[in-house]
Amino acid sequence: MTTISNNLQRVHALIAGACEQAGRPAGSVHLLAVSKTFGPDAVQAAALAGQRSFGENYIQEAVEKMAVVAEFELPHRLEWHCIGPIQSNKTRLVAEHFDWAHTVDRLRIAQRLSDQRPESLPPLQVCIQVNLDGGANKSGVAPDEALELAREAAGLPRILVRGLMSIPEPAADFESQLQVHQRAKRLFDDIAAQQVKGLERFDTLSMGMTDDLAAAVQAGSTMVRVGSGIFGRRHYPAAR
Ligand SMILES: *Cc1c(COP(=O)(O)O)cnc(C)c1O
Repeated sequence: MTTISNNLQRVHALIAGACEQAGRPAGSVHLLAVSKTFGPDAVQAAALAGQRSFGENYIQEAVEKMAVVAEFELPHRLEWHCIGPIQSNKTRLVAEHFDWAHTVDRLRIAQRLSDQRPESLPPLQVCIQVNLDGGANKSGVAPDEALELAREAAGLPRILVRGLMSIPEPAADFESQLQVHQRAKRLFDDIAAQQVKGLERFDTLSMGMTDDLAAAVQAGSTMVRVGSGIFGRRHYPAAR
């Protein structure tokens, strides 16, 4: 068995354990494998071990990787999630190549993604990125602006708003991690409870990475984004 497939098994076991601890059904948390900086072979190994959903930060790097991966014989179709910052000049690549974008934090980006989404593809699934801890140099809308952005984005024809995404500042201890994740969960529940038209499928809370996965699941994450826990340490600087 490859290291990657071993790691995947271990991460699935961690998620299952965290679900059990939280009294949540097994299988209520989706695993996104974050393959940024790793090559097509790493994606292939994970896919052969059963992984379907992949997260990428650097859009150009991702699109090149997808083209190579598309030539491999794989047991299933892969789903690609953009989890990195999206500048205006990159929206077309995201709209044309990805299935999901987690990092929508302003209406202008949502509009461009909707306008540029090809008719031949289903609507792009998006999450609104929220900045819950005021991390200064981080993207994401302020919590009190998230509902308005979700409402406006929900009116766009070629994107489907699926939920919220959060990247808290790293915290070493479980309790601090849990507190920020619980704030995200409360905001998520608040928005879901508003019954906004176009938010009927607002069901995804994208949070938790290798080091705060258990706290995120405890708080109610439905999608964890795990990179180093699956692929190992990232060694080389990413090409942008
Ligand atoms: C890199 C990255 C991850 C994965 O981080 P690990 O600590 O390697 O699990 C998850 N989410 C985002 C937004 C990232 O940039």
